Amino acid sequence: MKLIFEKGSEGRKLSILGTCDVPVSLPEEQFLRKEAADLPQVSETEISRHYSALERRAHGVNNGFYPLGSCTMKYNPAIDEEMAALPGFTRIHPLQDEESTQGALEVLELMEKKLSAITGLDQFTFQPAAGAHGEFTGLLVIKSYHRDRRDNARTKIIVPDSAHGTNPASAAMCGYEVVNIPSAPDGCVDLDALRAAVGPDTAGLMLTNPNTVGIFDKNIEEITRIIHEAGGLCYYDGANLNAIMGIARPGDMGFDVMHINLHKTFATPHGGGGPGSGPVGVRKELGCFLPGVRPVRGEDGKLHLQAPEKSMGSMRSFIGNFLVVVKALTYVTMLGREGVLEASRNAVLNANYMRKQLEDIFPAAYPVTCMHEFVISLDELHKETGVSALDAAKALLDYGIHPPTMYFPLIVHEALMIEPTETETKETMDEAIQALREIYQKAHENPEALHQAPLKAAISRPDEVQAARKPRLTYGMDA
Ligand SMILES: *Cc1c(COP(=O)(O)O)cnc(C)c1O
Repeated sequence: MKLIFEKGSEGRKLSILGTCDVPVSLPEEQFLRKEAADLPQVSETEISRHYSALERRAHGVNNGFYPLGSCTMKYNPAIDEEMAALPGFTRIHPLQDEESTQGALEVLELMEKKLSAITGLDQFTFQPAAGAHGEFTGLLVIKSYHRDRRDNARTKIIVPDSAHGTNPASAAMCGYEVVNIPSAPDGCVDLDALRAAVGPDTAGLMLTNPNTVGIFDKNIEEITRIIHEAGGLCYYDGANLNAIMGIARPGDMGFDVMHINLHKTFATPHGGGGPGSGPVGVRKELGCFLPGVRPVRGEDGKLHLQAPEKSMGSMRSFIGNFLVVVKALTYVTMLGREGVLEASRNAVLNANYMRKQLEDIFPAAYPVTCMHEFVISLDELHKETGVSALDAAKALLDYGIHPPTMYFPLIVHEALMIEPTETETKETMDEAIQALREIYQKAHENPEALHQAPLKAAISRPDEVQAARKPRLTYGMDA
């Protein structure tokens, strides 16, 4: 497919408006560009076709099943977009006086209340723009806490090997030494290894729960107790909250800090890379370290933006991706208490339905009742037929299904991580199960064909190593 710059021709444009009949006011000479910008010169028809063609080459939740484990690609209600498009929300400016933005501030106050009720934590910042950004923020809260107590010996963060990949990365970015601890055979944290790892140098623990193999750690209270007794704080990676919301609360399990991915759990389209929102919630005692400004209700009954007393500073501009909060608030308000609970139950039910239906050919790496996702291993199949998890994932594209997450988590060989989400019907899941069965059969009959898959997709098999190592992200205008 050609780039937009390779289309059109000199002088072609779309003229919607006539010539300007008011005086034109230009910036000072020094700010004017010396040469005309190198813009595509195309007609409206060409633009429209170009972007429609691009859209057709992408696969979204609106095109088909998207069981990309860990990413929670659920269908997002259209009403969220309608609410976020209301002029009262879009036409305000962060520097406007508080008097005129009370409604927007109330959105933040209300969302904080809802998130508190769901998580059991007290105060939230909406500054972080995504989950990983929330992890970074939350760990800085932990760092601020130790520093405030002049306890500078705490230099290590414990991260189980079933954690999401962003966990150790965030800890390292905060300047912490990452202590990796193994999982027990049941997929939960190995308690003996945890006990052996803690000490006076433990700043805290980061736990992804349910973890990356879709298991809720049965020893969760013991885990937080071990860390607290050692003087550390507990961080909960809440990106998988859609498995437990309305059922169990990280605050009650003993966690001190957590992030939530509003764009996953609370419905905002996020396949294209943003905007997201990764609010961080903390216990009351840690609220003083939160970044940025937060709305606080004053004696006058109005909301005022205030920086917490010992705030760590700012993690980004203003109060974060506000419109994502509007969508999330719309979503939880629409669901209500019962609906939130129902969403979690269905996410878990759907994952277990698929896990059970595939069990005879693709057994789960941990064959126990899972939460909202599960991981299968194609190690056996690979050894028998030479068909890898990559081949199977590519073959699914020919069925119009987005592949599950591949080769993650690293603790499972030839892993495919499947998360159907709560918004899929039994029919859709049955089609995916049927597709995986056919792929399994083809692997035994004609493995060679699967190495060539996909045959029907817009792009077959890009060179992923080259794409990662030497990405070409710009277009050479002069070339
Ligand atoms: C998605 C995810 C993250 C990272 O969130 P982003 O919004 O992509 O930065 C962290 N942990 C888990 C368990 C996740 O699934």
